[in-house]
Amino acid sequence: MLSEQSVSVVDVWLEAGRDGRTFRYCDSLRLGVGLGDLVSVRLRGRRLQGLVTSCRGFDEDSHAEGFSGHPLLPVDALVQSAAVDAGWREWLDAMADRCHTSSFRMLKAALPPGWLGQRPTPSAAGRRMWWVALRDVAPSVDLSNASRQQALMDVLAQRGGGAWQRDLLAEGFQSGSVQALESKGLIQREQRCCNDLESSVSPPFHAEPPRALTEEQQAAITRFQRLPDSSEMLLWGITGSGKTEVYLQLAAAELGAGRHVLMLTPEIGLIPQLVDRCRKRFGAQVVEYHSGCTDRERVATWRRCLASDQPLVVVGTRSAVFLPLRPLGLLVLDEEHDNSYKQESPMPCYHARDLASERVRLQGGRLLLGSATPSLETWSRLQPEGPVMLSKLRSRISRQPLPPVRIIDMRHELAEGNKRLISRALMDRLAGLRDKGEQAVVLVPRRGYSTFLSCRSCGEVVMCPHCDVPLTVHGSRSHQQWLRCHWCDHREPIAASCSACGSLAFKPFGAGTQRVMERLAAELSDLRLLRFDRDTTGGRDGHRRLLDRFADGEADVLVGTQMLAKGMDLPHVTLAAVLAADGLLHRPDLRAGEQCLQLLLQLAGRAGRAEKPGEVLVQTYSPDHPVIRHLVDGRYERFLEEETTLRREAGLVPFARACLLRLAGRSANDTATAGTLLAERLREPCAAAGWQLLGPAPAPVARVAGRSRWQLLLHGPKNSPIPLPPGASLWDGLPRDVSLAVDPDPLQL
Ligand code: ADP
Ligand code: ZN
Ligand code: ZN
Repeated sequence: MLSEQSVSVVDVWLEAGRDGRTFRYCDSLRLGVGLGDLVSVRLRGRRLQGLVTSCRGFDEDSHAEGFSGHPLLPVDALVQSAAVDAGWREWLDAMADRCHTSSFRMLKAALPPGWLGQRPTPSAAGRRMWWVALRDVAPSVDLSNASRQQALMDVLAQRGGGAWQRDLLAEGFQSGSVQALESKGLIQREQRCCNDLESSVSPPFHAEPPRALTEEQQAAITRFQRLPDSSEMLLWGITGSGKTEVYLQLAAAELGAGRHVLMLTPEIGLIPQLVDRCRKRFGAQVVEYHSGCTDRERVATWRRCLASDQPLVVVGTRSAVFLPLRPLGLLVLDEEHDNSYKQESPMPCYHARDLASERVRLQGGRLLLGSATPSLETWSRLQPEGPVMLSKLRSRISRQPLPPVRIIDMRHELAEGNKRLISRALMDRLAGLRDKGEQAVVLVPRRGYSTFLSCRSCGEVVMCPHCDVPLTVHGSRSHQQWLRCHWCDHREPIAASCSACGSLAFKPFGAGTQRVMERLAAELSDLRLLRFDRDTTGGRDGHRRLLDRFADGEADVLVGTQMLAKGMDLPHVTLAAVLAADGLLHRPDLRAGEQCLQLLLQLAGRAGRAEKPGEVLVQTYSPDHPVIRHLVDGRYERFLEEETTLRREAGLVPFARACLLRLAGRSANDTATAGTLLAERLREPCAAAGWQLLGPAPAPVARVAGRSRWQLLLHGPKNSPIPLPPGASLWDGLPRDVSLAVDPDPLQL
């Protein structure tokens, strides 16, 4: 007989409507449900998973509280006990407020996909997978002509003799190599049960010893370790200065003290190499968490974080910032300046750096921000003005100097009759590569978010008379185009000739990547090209496979978009070139200059990493642009100082705030109308709070994937709250087909 006293009544937060709602259930199956548990229940016949938000004993009133007098339904299953604790919830709620989203949406974004909602949780139990192991007795086979197979053998040896095939493939080995080794009798494969999807490292594990630190590295480590709990430090080190080694040694100290470590990297493409470096030190304590993992793996990792009695090192992308690691000793954000830390859509539009900073403030642990080119935001939060400490690494480990930068003035090319994409200087340099056994990377800026108007004869770009940004070309057909400023809504017609020099070589700038690639292939027909962009690097290890092919010498030139600049280490690359820096320089964005310089400096870091010295070649119509000047003189900090002065005087971010409301819908009319109605509702509260409201206006890219995009831009004083109505009322009255996202402190328009 059920003793009612011991049965709990629980409120379960379920996905219902935009922001979730709690419903009451009863733990009549005696699952021992408690606060913060993730449970499975039924709601109007559907099975849902939700979070227990309150929990109390069964009493007289409880009978009456069911739906329309029916007794309470039972909780069907306990999916995960203590999925969420109170401190974590508090942090998440504060972040939800900051992102102008509901706590429920924030929670849903934080938990592994599919955990909260309607999908049943994938069960991780009992999957059979291939285990690859070295044979105890193996024939002696010469692998000197099969470097990948030898590398695979080495990895297996390092991992104590065996690894999951899945992990090996994830690390970029081809299944062909595995098969070849198997047929040579060097390895064997068997199907094994993989319960917890742990990493493949099996004991005995021979940890790679830490490196002897340079003086600078030692100083950075000592400095960080002396900081009190909840501190933040910027590790500002040029490319190749050994930042990662600092992370690893700090991580080792935390693990030794029994605390977890979280290492974030902005791009999924950078995960494999960071994971490798961590695994060599910490073996099976290293776990991955990012969008390349399946939902099942993400749930398994989340559970492992909750349950682990051993401190872990988690390597992940921005969403890993949510993992429930307690106690968290060290949180590293590598390449802290990178935009990919900001989620732009869907909501919540959070920045992982803000979340990380708030997390260590509330829950303890210390935050280390690493970069060769820190963001202006972080730089302006440095001591003595702000809370962030600083440590610098000024020299490269290899003692190789940073490569020199050569600017190619494309206006001269045009004046001298060269109308091709590639300057003669770059052509000569590329033509000589193959004989010297060298390689090049060529960056073609991703199709700009917009098109600007520029003069190919003198380099003049048409700017907004009020703001420090280029005007954007609007309208699809050339006879009905006009110019518009995305910050202040200034508009003007398009002139036929350049106002500075009268040239008629005056037209919108920004061809699609695809077309540029095709023309490039035509112009460089003697060279072997490999394309590195979103389309060619899909899949779990797309990046890695492509880079392996390039590293193996399959091509002379790697041509790619922005992704190319990030963190790859290719010893034969001696040349890094940019085809049209203008596409990066003249984005209608207040951070365009900063982001462009960061990117170009990073790209420069790709050339000449091994013995051969490198060179950087930048083609542009604006050789006098401050970004180009500072790229050549390498004085990044000087750029930040100038940029700060400029932004302060103009009252721009971070000396002011902005908030972007993005609307999207199938019907251009409905979307525009919804924007107008929204603007009318917001005009009054904005004015009252001293904020400016601009728009609605078409987004810089006005149509994406069949949806029209409009936006409203709010500007206001620094540190003042964004004047939006609380809760979900902003979405009231929005047509069904039109979506609205709030992006506070947007990085891009
Ligand atoms: P960053 O992250 O600053 O670009 P890395 O950490 O990748 O630099 O270091 C560059 C190279 O120098 C790597 O190959 C790394 O293994 C090596 N390295 C780093 N620190 C040391 C050290 N103290 N002694 C020897 N080699 C080191
Ligand atoms: Zn001109
Ligand atoms: Zn303007």
